[in-house]
Amino acid sequence: MASERLVEDYHDATRAARRVPDSVEIWDETLRDGEQMPGVHFSPDEKLRIAELLSEVGVGVLNAGIPVVSEEEARAVRLVAGAGLRAKVLAAARTVPKDIDAVIRSGVSHIAIFVAASNVHLRYKLKMSQAEVLAASVRSVRQAKEAGLHTAFVTEDTVRAPFDFVERLYTAVQEAGADRLVVADTVGIMTPLTFRWYLDEFVRRVRPNDLSVHCHNDFGLATANTLTAVECGARAPHVCVNGLGERAGNASLEEVVLDLEVLYGVRTGIRTERLYELSRLVEELSGVPIAANKALVGYHAFSHEAGIHTHGILAHTLTYEPLQPSTVGRRRQMILGKHTGTAAIVEKLKERGLTAPDPLLFELLRRVKSETEARSKDELKRFLAEYRTLFEHPGLSDDEFWAMVDAVGIRAVSA
Ligand code: MN
Repeated sequence: MASERLVEDYHDATRAARRVPDSVEIWDETLRDGEQMPGVHFSPDEKLRIAELLSEVGVGVLNAGIPVVSEEEARAVRLVAGAGLRAKVLAAARTVPKDIDAVIRSGVSHIAIFVAASNVHLRYKLKMSQAEVLAASVRSVRQAKEAGLHTAFVTEDTVRAPFDFVERLYTAVQEAGADRLVVADTVGIMTPLTFRWYLDEFVRRVRPNDLSVHCHNDFGLATANTLTAVECGARAPHVCVNGLGERAGNASLEEVVLDLEVLYGVRTGIRTERLYELSRLVEELSGVPIAANKALVGYHAFSHEAGIHTHGILAHTLTYEPLQPSTVGRRRQMILGKHTGTAAIVEKLKERGLTAPDPLLFELLRRVKSETEARSKDELKRFLAEYRTLFEHPGLSDDEFWAMVDAVGIRAVSA
């Protein structure tokens, strides 16, 4: 009995089967891809506040933005680059000389150069041939390396591009001096099974000195695919706080970090107990609410209401909590409601040093249940209606846009 384990842990049995690294460097994309989420806009000062906390929390590299986008964006990148952060600061550029010049002028030490790779992107978006993309990529990597920047090379839509082109392109940029190669699942269509095959093949054919991945969440697989990539040797996974990013977002920082630390035993360098603080700051400054049931940082992630669950938690937290809320800087919450049981009532009464005989306990429990069952949902409905108005149409309204068209002086040409 003394040596009896309370729960079995089968992770060790599988960890050895893959070459899982001991540690990874977290590459945060909140200020670039995260900001590209519809309706999200960070001012330079807001970028700095987030960057400072990301750095304090222990992120290895952070993408501050794309300086060529606007004057304000360039100012934001310079502000973050000059803040003396412990995290390495990166800025992004297309394979265009002026983009790379803007990154060099911003004072960052790291650059990510990106270009599309799949046929659909080349033919319909870039209107470039594979040979042109390859030449521009090699030229851009050389330009960045000559300026002394640590250079990552990224292709958009890597995993939907012809593999022979991916192999030639990445091999060429690595020979040109690229320090880190990033494979992107830009539209989130990989599965852990396919991504494992893809990355094993990529490693075999390209032999990257340093592999990184960028996974999107269109099918809800961003975190799973990112973990698969780490199993395949990726050492700098891209993440965004709260899973922000284009469309359904990117792999979430808090999920990837906790999964690696707790389930894989991989060190991330992140002070996990500050993750909730980070999540809340990004929620506030991005204006994108954290889903109530979001893993680790959702409001309900460490809340218990159901009688069977609260009873279990009060007896031993391992029954229904796989990790302590304090691990991510949170507290456990016991919710009184329709599903409450007597154990939670007894525990709550203890807060004021009270005990009660069963008949009174049962009467109290009956009232707790009926009160919450009868409670009006009007306030919640009003809140949801406002929320929907804000989120179904972020950005400019149609009225605002057409007023602007009018103000600029665009008129229909009458025949
Ligand atoms: Mn992206």
